[in-house]
Amino acid sequence: MGPGPSDVHPRVLQAMGRPTIGHLDPAFVAMMDEVKQLLRYAFQTKNALTLPVSAPGSAGMEACFVNLIEAGDTVIVCQNGVFGGRMRENVERIGATAIMVEDAWGTPIDLNKAEEALKAHPGAKALAFVHAETSTGVLSDAKALCALATKYGALSIVDAVTSLGGSPLLTDQWGVDAIYSGSQKCLSCAPGLSPVTFGERAIDVLQNRKTKVQSWFLDLTLVMNYWTDGGGAARSYHHTAPVNSLYGLHESLLMLHEEGIENSWARHRLNSDALRAGFAAMGLKPLVADADHLPQLTALKVPDGVDKPETRRRLLENYGLEVGGGLGDLTGKVWRIGLMGQSSTPAHVILCLSAMEGTLTDMGANINPGVAVPVAQKILFSD
Ligand SMILES: *Cc1c(COP(=O)(O)O)cnc(C)c1O
Repeated sequence: MGPGPSDVHPRVLQAMGRPTIGHLDPAFVAMMDEVKQLLRYAFQTKNALTLPVSAPGSAGMEACFVNLIEAGDTVIVCQNGVFGGRMRENVERIGATAIMVEDAWGTPIDLNKAEEALKAHPGAKALAFVHAETSTGVLSDAKALCALATKYGALSIVDAVTSLGGSPLLTDQWGVDAIYSGSQKCLSCAPGLSPVTFGERAIDVLQNRKTKVQSWFLDLTLVMNYWTDGGGAARSYHHTAPVNSLYGLHESLLMLHEEGIENSWARHRLNSDALRAGFAAMGLKPLVADADHLPQLTALKVPDGVDKPETRRRLLENYGLEVGGGLGDLTGKVWRIGLMGQSSTPAHVILCLSAMEGTLTDMGANINPGVAVPVAQKILFSD
């Protein structure tokens, strides 16, 4: 129950154990088409350019920036946690200028500040932001931010590594231009793949670049020749696809489709509400206000006087339960508890509450015993 990777279902692991066939084998090519179709469902888009980059979420981030941004461009980057800082790195390494819109860690991106920045920089090429900040457990208003980008003529570049499959995300309806995710969070696949999708405006920008994309590997104009039949032309080798990883992604996307994406969103919300209510009954404080809370990740303030690494060690050793520590400014201040994909179940909620209660009691923390699990059960099973 850390901030990813989440539990991988045995069906996905079994799929990954299937025989390795060639990356241009007709059977594999047919499966690639299904992967693209299933990814369109997950992203709720009709975008033709929808594919998994053969590398983790960070590569999906880089793919969006290197394909759409050129040296000399200006990009407005919203930062309210660790991952917005990485977007800045991407922009600056391209030789573009990042205009930072900063919000306190644990709060969502302020729409007014984002709009002020767009007004102050009318030529900005893009507005980039993180939908679900995994470092703090905050969900920002992606729909409103994308509408702002469109209003001011900027592309929207969205990090959906932790939101895809777990929180409502409507790529086409919201007018998202470029968006990337990761396989190991709410999709519950093994780490190492990064689904991305580009809308028409983004493809237009990509096709009208003044310079070549400086990363050969992430240049989507080249990758596309492998992932699509270009006007009847045969698919051509770009790099050897991670065949078995893609079997896994295919299976995990099928499982999401079987569940129904709206059901998955509702499941993440319900389990997280139960977990938070249980912690509150115990007397533990969340970092994030209810209204901004990200269902797939709860950041919990560490109670005073508790030995943080020792608590995490005991949770792992005694209960087989992994929780994350704080990142960046929140190091030593919070635990990050994930309820993502296959790890978002009532059983995980109950295990986490009882394991945390037992461990914190042993550690001498001042908590209310015996109340957290019943409170959570009531929310989980009341109907
Ligand atoms: C995990 C994560 C990433 C990075 O993904 P990797 O697969 O670790 O490269 C990027 N953004 C967010 C919001 C994340 O949670």
